[in-house]
Amino acid sequence: MSGRQPVPVLMYHDVDSDTAGGDPFTIPESELADHLDALVGAGWRTEKITALADKPATEGTVYLTFDDGLTSFARLVMPLLSQRQLSATLFVPTGHIGESAHWHRREAGSPEVMGWAQLRALDPDIVEVGSHGHSHRALDVMSGQRSSEEAVLSRRLLEEGLGRAVTSFAYPYGYHSRAVRAEAKQAGYRVACTVGYAFHQAGSDPFQVRRLRVGPGLSGPGVLRLLAEGQRNRGTMIAVRAARPAWRLLRRSRQGRGGIGSPRSQRELEHARRKW
Ligand SMILES: [Zn+2]
Repeated sequence: MSGRQPVPVLMYHDVDSDTAGGDPFTIPESELADHLDALVGAGWRTEKITALADKPATEGTVYLTFDDGLTSFARLVMPLLSQRQLSATLFVPTGHIGESAHWHRREAGSPEVMGWAQLRALDPDIVEVGSHGHSHRALDVMSGQRSSEEAVLSRRLLEEGLGRAVTSFAYPYGYHSRAVRAEAKQAGYRVACTVGYAFHQAGSDPFQVRRLRVGPGLSGPGVLRLLAEGQRNRGTMIAVRAARPAWRLLRRSRQGRGGIGSPRSQRELEHARRKW
């Protein structure tokens, strides 16, 4: 495949058997099954995300990614993938392993991030485990030292905890900058995903892999349309706004202090290690 060919990378978060709450990051298990059946029926193949760095993307290949390492992945997603011989990539925020994913605020309570035992039990033939940072905070508004530590330590924790190489990263909330991309590369990752609400382009920067967001209400044929047409409406403005310096400044002031270098995060790191 030559450059500039669109490469579809889909971004999922949570899956549930009951989605009455209307959460925009959760899709019903039955919808995911419909998506996967539609992909298989239309002849799409899946690859894990690091394959993008290893070889040129092949036409007809879709990359499925799941952010936040939520327990629904082990319970509901793995069986669906396994039954259809499909593969995916899971991005885990290491500071929250075995704990609540508090950034998903729901009436029924936040979902849980998988524990180490669940992560270790994932079949590496089916799923690639990548890092989603340590604290799940936006990296582009941290000091360089802190954002670099997030990339380095989360990789080290996952590699030590899983006993496997970890080569992919997903920027929390999709936020990155030139400096953050360089830090991800320096930390040893080979691929890093953002959001972008667009196709990735074959041959473009593997540290800015753009993804198409999948939310609830999308049918099997809807996923095939998404792969054919891209994401034209919702999300574009959010992506544009996120890139603006003023918006970054506002987020920086909101985020306040903290991060991996702070005493609190050092405690979190020790805490994560104890759970191995
Ligand atoms: Zn996330």
